Amino acid sequence: MDKVGDGQLYLDGAFCAAESGRTGPVHEKATGRQIGSYALGGAADVDRAVRAARAAQPGWAALSAPQRAGHLRAFAEVLQARYPELVEQSIRETGGVRAKAEDEVGTSIRQLHISAVQATENAGDILPPYKQGKLSLSRAVPLGVLGLITPWNYPMNLAMRAVAPGLAFGNTVVLKPAELTPVIGGQVLAAAAHEAGLPPGVFNVVTGDGPDAGQPLAAHPGLDLMDFTGSREVGLRIAAHAARDLRPIRLELGGSNAFLVLDDADVELAASCAVIASLEFQGQTCISASRHLVHREVADAYLEALTTRAKALRVGDPMLAETDLGPLISERQVHRVHQEIVLPSVAQGATVLAGAEHEGLFYQPTVLAEVTPEMPVFREEVFGPVIPVTVVGSEREAVELANRHPALMNSVFSTDLMRGMAVAEQLHAGEVHVNDAHARHGAENQMPGFTRRQWIGVQRTPLSIPDWAARR
Ligand code: NAD
Repeated sequence: MDKVGDGQLYLDGAFCAAESGRTGPVHEKATGRQIGSYALGGAADVDRAVRAARAAQPGWAALSAPQRAGHLRAFAEVLQARYPELVEQSIRETGGVRAKAEDEVGTSIRQLHISAVQATENAGDILPPYKQGKLSLSRAVPLGVLGLITPWNYPMNLAMRAVAPGLAFGNTVVLKPAELTPVIGGQVLAAAAHEAGLPPGVFNVVTGDGPDAGQPLAAHPGLDLMDFTGSREVGLRIAAHAARDLRPIRLELGGSNAFLVLDDADVELAASCAVIASLEFQGQTCISASRHLVHREVADAYLEALTTRAKALRVGDPMLAETDLGPLISERQVHRVHQEIVLPSVAQGATVLAGAEHEGLFYQPTVLAEVTPEMPVFREEVFGPVIPVTVVGSEREAVELANRHPALMNSVFSTDLMRGMAVAEQLHAGEVHVNDAHARHGAENQMPGFTRRQWIGVQRTPLSIPDWAARR
């Protein structure tokens, strides 16, 4: 991997050490081997970055939309040229398998191209005149300086989904990536932006941990918008900072997603989709299905289909083509999943049908039956490879239980498409799938607005089985 920026911040178009002079290690998650380092930035570094972004913003906004689009395309081309190395870096740093890493890097590059087009096509509009003899125009005006704090699970594209549209519309950016993935989530983006010739100060990266680098960024008065993706706990802190000076924020947080299997569901299809929905990237995805609500008439067949599939999955080194599930991101995450969620739920009566054990960071795909709404595995966002199954007696009960906790993406399985869609409309989630999961119909195109948009993705019958599960 290119070592440009290794152990350094990227401020005002230059790589430099953190003011503290300190760095932290970057580890390959599957082996524990050190594969790089990152600068431990702090308040002074954040302040320099925000000032640089502020100074650069008017000049960047003054470029024409096609000029900014040209910079974005150059940025995308540098990433594209390094695609194989970036995929490898993502596998090593996040512990995700190759398909996940390819999705992450590919989506990031696509996002830059999409934003380049959007900047030119949505720069302004001529509106219908509201009165004879009048001319009405609207134009897209940048907010100014964006602060961006990102998590470790899809570090590159969760950064890029804000960096690309932000830059495209004339904003400048200060990014603080997660400390567990500072290279793929920050350093490589800085190196690519530099090589692509983005003007100094337009894109800045301050690596470091949450309290020392994230907190000063979230509290910095020089930001026009704070954009945060991560946990609800940290989101609450970010909101508190923003409330103090009424600064706009955009929060993308966690949830507890429901997966409904109705009494007329195609059980094999539901189980095939379930292993992807709950176990993709070891379940460490904000849209992971973490509560399976299954009608009692199909529960036995569903549990059997699920357990067979879960047991067939191979856990191991994500560099190997045959691996389905790599390691969890950290010891802390293993502790949370096992000691704080799975074991207490088993102590409260959940039955283990598969897994519930681990070797180091490698956690076996786990199926828990007889899960009740009081158990931690039902109440908490699990963020691990766990499929908790709760049996319900009616469609109404399934909807009521699903809506008890905030969700990002839910799924409904029924062979009656109209019934599936009717249930989907009752679920409180940003995106709902009928006879499908993780299809991301709308995720790449969501724009903030004054209405809440719910995406409903439907898989038509006859039903197809997703590739990953079809291999089992
Ligand atoms: P996290 O909240 O612990 O950390 C996210 C970021 O916040 C990191 O960069 C971290 O350094 C920083 N941070 C930590 N403490 C901070 C503080 N006091 N002030 C400012 N910044 C601070 O989350 P995580 O463990 O990295 O990610 C997992 C969470 O992210 C899950 O809850 C998941 O659902 C959520 N997530 C949501 C989406 C989405 O699009 N909604 C996408 C991915 C992940």
